[in-house]
Amino acid sequence: MTMHPFSRRSARPSALRAALLPAHGTACVLLAAWLLTACGSTPLPPWPATPTAPRSAEQPAASRPQARPAPTGPAAVSRPLPDHAPLVVQGAGPMAAPAVLPSAPPASPPYGAAVAARFPEPPMAYSTPGLRPERRAFTTNAELGQWLRALADSAAQGAATGTTATTRARVLTIGNSQRGEPIAGLLLTRAAGTDPASLERSGRPTVVLIGQQHGDEPAGSEALLVVSSELAQGLLEPLLDRINVVVVPRANPDGAQAGTRVTANGLDMNRDHLLLDTPEARALAQVVNDYRPILVLDAHEFTVAGRYLQKFNAIQRYDALLQYTTTANYPEFLTKASEEWYHQPLLAALEAQDLTSHWYYTTSTDMQDQRISMGGIRPDTSRNVNGLKNAVSLLIETRGVGIGRMHIQRRVHTQVTAIASALRSTAERAADLEQVRSFVAREVSAQACRGQVVVEAAATPTRRALDFLDPDTGADRRLSVVWNSSLTLRPVKARFRPCGYWLAASATAAVERLKQLGLQVMRIAEPGAMLAETYLETARESGDRQDVRGSIAGNAGILRVQVTPMRRAIDAPAGSFYVPLNQPRAPLAVAALEPDTQNSYFANRVIADLADIARVMAIPALVFDETE
Ligand SMILES: [Zn+2]
Repeated sequence: MTMHPFSRRSARPSALRAALLPAHGTACVLLAAWLLTACGSTPLPPWPATPTAPRSAEQPAASRPQARPAPTGPAAVSRPLPDHAPLVVQGAGPMAAPAVLPSAPPASPPYGAAVAARFPEPPMAYSTPGLRPERRAFTTNAELGQWLRALADSAAQGAATGTTATTRARVLTIGNSQRGEPIAGLLLTRAAGTDPASLERSGRPTVVLIGQQHGDEPAGSEALLVVSSELAQGLLEPLLDRINVVVVPRANPDGAQAGTRVTANGLDMNRDHLLLDTPEARALAQVVNDYRPILVLDAHEFTVAGRYLQKFNAIQRYDALLQYTTTANYPEFLTKASEEWYHQPLLAALEAQDLTSHWYYTTSTDMQDQRISMGGIRPDTSRNVNGLKNAVSLLIETRGVGIGRMHIQRRVHTQVTAIASALRSTAERAADLEQVRSFVAREVSAQACRGQVVVEAAATPTRRALDFLDPDTGADRRLSVVWNSSLTLRPVKARFRPCGYWLAASATAAVERLKQLGLQVMRIAEPGAMLAETYLETARESGDRQDVRGSIAGNAGILRVQVTPMRRAIDAPAGSFYVPLNQPRAPLAVAALEPDTQNSYFANRVIADLADIARVMAIPALVFDETE
């Protein structure tokens, strides 16, 4: 058979409702209890097996609007109407598409009808500017901004007329891209105000949803426009009784415009969340500092054919690949929350929509390397760095890179289903999550000066059966692969955990970035002595930063050193800095400042000299400047 990627059927509101508001069973509750007993080595407070907050998202079906009027009137011509729900039937309408951009030419399909038939259209049709059937380009940056502004305007009108009781929506410009494009966000809340303090006072946890850090992965961005609309005045709006949401649909607008993975200067911004070289990554870091999300969700797409076809003569089979934070020093409680409260419900939500899923994995760009690796373990991605800010941090990937607009409705449906599941999990577990976060923040802080800290860890190689598709017949093809598991981390380098780090007065670039990571850095006001460990360099070479795909795009090259810590007293002059580890984000200071890892500020030349860093091994008696 042939399958046209643009084929549509009428929208069925009941189908979208089923995707967004599925029923819940008791399976994950039982699993939670079982996992708790299996995990007895760490002293943990009682693990809540059932949500302590009442569920809020399931509303009687009759109370939700079944359909919306089609957008009419002159306003609809120039902007996406906020009541332009994703349920709108495709086809003619006043919202004519603007001139099609040249940036998204139709890709020649990498496979034929037999494979395509494995991915039928979903039971509903989503409609954003970029998903309209006549379109060849995805939503432009200008259209994306208009969409968010229209939602905010509509919420304001609703609030003024009393039709949408208390939902507030505010457009945020969280930063600007390297080419000067605004990086737009939308804050949705039922708090008394839209500033971070009002959100904090609301007692509701905040979620940050990020799309399109990689410009050639459009489904996440389109899906987040749908989710924004459903939160503002659709099926997801009741969740705002329990949570606040910040949506950043497109973190890399330059890459989206150009159709490239990287930012305008060629950097992979999703390896830049510790170093913060790009304004795009800094903008996201600021959002996380401002809103302290309990969940950060990062929407991506993965390569469908490409190197899988070349290496394995196979096509990717799964609709969604999922992974949560897997990096050294991530609190065990947050791993449990990620697995039991988010990952298990996600699997169920996708399955209920007949969508297949698996752990996220990738393979290197080296065609001789047949290994498959889960998403990386280094503290450089959004998934891992935001986890170390004591959040649940999820990666949602759909099968989309290299296939243009093929299956775009199904890709968006997969994203919407997964994102809605994660939002529901947060709403259901809001009180439990706050409790867990408060516990791990205290626990992490209390570890300063004690025990060992993992400086570098490695994934564990194993074997696994993985299902692909035959590129000719579309049939399942099971391969046995070498599988590097990020779920089992092996510490390969550990050290005594210091009380903090001393930094020379000249290390201002590092201090600025540490603060952008949300770390407290204190300036020493009067000279003092400290018991410390300084680094003795024993070997040095230059190299590239690597991830499981290969060399990381755009990196200027790193210094790989080997060091031996040497204990001695040092004098800390006035104007130098102290980074205490008795703070909730301490693992990020370890990641940035232990010099002999590829992500460290020394390896990446943010810190010029090894003598500018020392490990402070006893709580120092120092006088500090007042900090802001
Ligand atoms: Zn990506």
